[in-house]
Amino acid sequence: MARYTGPSCRLCRREATKLFLKGKRCYTDKCAVAKRQTPPGMHGTRRTKASNYALQLREKQKVKRTYGILERQFRKYFKKAASIKGVTGEILLQLLERRLDNVIFNLHFATSRTEARQIVRHGHILVNNRKVNIPSYLVKADDSITTKQKEKSIKRFKDNIELCKDRSIPDWIELNETEVSGKISRIPNRGDIEMPIQEHLIVELYSK
Ligand code: SF4
Repeated sequence: MARYTGPSCRLCRREATKLFLKGKRCYTDKCAVAKRQTPPGMHGTRRTKASNYALQLREKQKVKRTYGILERQFRKYFKKAASIKGVTGEILLQLLERRLDNVIFNLHFATSRTEARQIVRHGHILVNNRKVNIPSYLVKADDSITTKQKEKSIKRFKDNIELCKDRSIPDWIELNETEVSGKISRIPNRGDIEMPIQEHLIVELYSK
């Protein structure tokens, strides 16, 4: 599968927010966003008035990069969201939040969504006691998320939980730290997504 292989911190600096793409480094003061607030590139400090299109594109890129999704897959999510009754932008975010790799990241079993994806792909995660190795799997209310009880991986998850303790866990996910497991208490709503996202700009961009 195609994936972005360029410098991760550059993406965070471009979006001027921490996207947690680099795992452990993101939780230290070595984080590039914490050190430098300017966009990357030699013209990073130049101030220009962004056009409407530029704002829409920026917002889409931010969401894509946050969830680690490439253009083709992102368009599929948008198409799916548009086909569901309701506010398209909110449904789009809801679908992205429900991805299994995002849930693993939010449960703090992984320090980044990239690590979460790898954990899922390597078959460490069980949903309702059945192995699921598809990072894009969409969780549902009442799903239980458990891990294969291997000593080495349990230690890794516990270490990650400790490392991520300053990151909040969304209300729709419950973490059982002792058992290294989780539960989906309900489907996420717009208010659960703390990241500043103006999803209406993405809808405007794709509706042209
Ligand atoms: Fe982003 Fe992490 Fe790099 Fe900080 S360390 S800029 S959060 S990828």
